[in-house]
Amino acid sequence: MLLRCVLAAVVLTTTAVSFDAVEPVRYRLSFPEPQHRWMQVEAEFPDVSEATFELRMSRSSPGRYSLHDFAKNVYDVHVFDKGGREVEASRPDPYGWNVTGHGGLVRVKYKVYGDRVDGTYLAIDETHAHVNMPAALMWAHGFDDRPATVAFEQPAGTNWQIATQLHPGSTPLEFTAPNLQYLMDSPVEFGPIAMRQFTVGSRTFRIALHHPGGDGEADALARDAEKIVRQEGAIYGEFPDYEPGHYTFLVDHLPNADGDGMEHRNSTVITASSAVDRAMLYDTVAHEFFHCWNVERIRPRGLEPFDFDRANLSDSLWLAEGFTQYYGPLALHRAGLADVASTAGAIGRLVDAVVNDPGRATRSAVDMSRMAPFIDGGRTVDRTNWQNTVISYYTFGGAIAAALDLSLRDRTDNRVSLDDYMRAMWRTYGKPGGSREGYVDRPYSITDAEETLAAVSGDRAFAHDFFAKYIEGHDVADYARLLARAGFAVRKREPGRAWLGDLHLLAREGTRVARLVAPNWPLYAAGVEQDDEVRELDGQRIIADSDVSAVLARHKPGDRIAITFVDRTRRARTSTITLAENPSLDVVPMDSPTAAQKAFRDAWLGSRTK
Ligand SMILES: [Zn+2]
Repeated sequence: MLLRCVLAAVVLTTTAVSFDAVEPVRYRLSFPEPQHRWMQVEAEFPDVSEATFELRMSRSSPGRYSLHDFAKNVYDVHVFDKGGREVEASRPDPYGWNVTGHGGLVRVKYKVYGDRVDGTYLAIDETHAHVNMPAALMWAHGFDDRPATVAFEQPAGTNWQIATQLHPGSTPLEFTAPNLQYLMDSPVEFGPIAMRQFTVGSRTFRIALHHPGGDGEADALARDAEKIVRQEGAIYGEFPDYEPGHYTFLVDHLPNADGDGMEHRNSTVITASSAVDRAMLYDTVAHEFFHCWNVERIRPRGLEPFDFDRANLSDSLWLAEGFTQYYGPLALHRAGLADVASTAGAIGRLVDAVVNDPGRATRSAVDMSRMAPFIDGGRTVDRTNWQNTVISYYTFGGAIAAALDLSLRDRTDNRVSLDDYMRAMWRTYGKPGGSREGYVDRPYSITDAEETLAAVSGDRAFAHDFFAKYIEGHDVADYARLLARAGFAVRKREPGRAWLGDLHLLAREGTRVARLVAPNWPLYAAGVEQDDEVRELDGQRIIADSDVSAVLARHKPGDRIAITFVDRTRRARTSTITLAENPSLDVVPMDSPTAAQKAFRDAWLGSRTK
């Protein structure tokens, strides 16, 4: 008995040691000519047991839903075997390099070009290296659980610092990741960083700002980000455990930055051109930080684990992105960083889109989510009719969140709200976490999301009805009634004025209709379409948009006027337009809300912290 126990202990110990001793993949990133915007990458993959070793560049990047094919910027690729001899890699597809005869170790050396400051790509120049890992690093099939080390070389003559959610390594310029999922999720800003830090409870938050401005801007950003962080923390009642011991806002506020925000588990990348004002920057801060719960940990099934070889499909981006979109302006208002009028404006834009955009009749919120791989950062060469058939899942989901929040509050006189729903989703699906860092063990399905609503509302029929109508169906909530409870009016933007559609004319080569005509515009019924050349309206020659306005000013909704146009086949045509009222809606605070409306509004939009 005793002997057997000892033997078992020895076997266990040996197993544990060999597991701990697994050799990491080692990356070294250097910048010999930053002014030419490329980075030198060297990677070493030890303990290769596969006969054919499959090196890859990602086709996709977590949080961005379309394909980006990062291999397109990789060049000067050299592969070496264990003995240091260069070996020929075969190319099974445009994204891969297959290596045989490697002797159990593969080293690869390549250059990668990058000149886009945003949340998805790579940007190298004399001012910084802004690195999104899928755009930069080759990885290997079968190495998902292999830890990695990433070492940066300081470019000549610089004294840059690094901000990242990667774990610190043995030197200030060396970092580690426990596995591929975490490595790929960990962007790096390497440059002259203004670092600020604050704590809320036991959690540490860092602002790593790269900008041409002064200390005042960094101080203000840290101060206001803290207000947002506190309000969003109050929604969930707690913060996640940030694995490296802190959460980092990587902010590039630079002349050449594209406007973007990208969420990660323990950090976010926020990029904005210097022209972008504080309000827009804060909106992105509020949106991205909300993601550290919703998406990063409360994770839809289609995104977990992330597959870097393809576009990842989710049916729940109306919740993952849309509900996050709704909470951005709400958190800003609760933090005292936005006034009632601008918050009403933000909610109004969501409501107007979901009420009036024709796409709702074609695709449900679930269908819109499945369009993400085509519409999120993707480019099309051919024309599409998305203008009439797609509503962004950000907007659609944001409007659904508003309807759900107000419906829950309406049913319970503010005792139950969307905050309770998000907290329930957090406790069931987010908080349990993952058995491996960077993973989520309980991603949710749409059924799970509906079940959670049934539990939170205490009304299964309500939950089923809400999902069937507004999420899987094509109905629209009664926003006017719901918003009236909080003292907001939903009103037509141009009441009593004649309208024929949001016609934009291109004056070049005649007056051509510049965009797709929507089915709910009077022009549509008159048979007018994109590229048609408008000659006359109501007997008046049309030269520019201002001529259209002049004609409309003479009429009222319901009037019928003649249109003469030349279609794309150069056929002259005449038709009749029945003018209507512009259906566009605004949400505005009522002039004199009742005490009950004020109380409802305060419960909804008021601060969550003391
Ligand atoms: Zn988002």
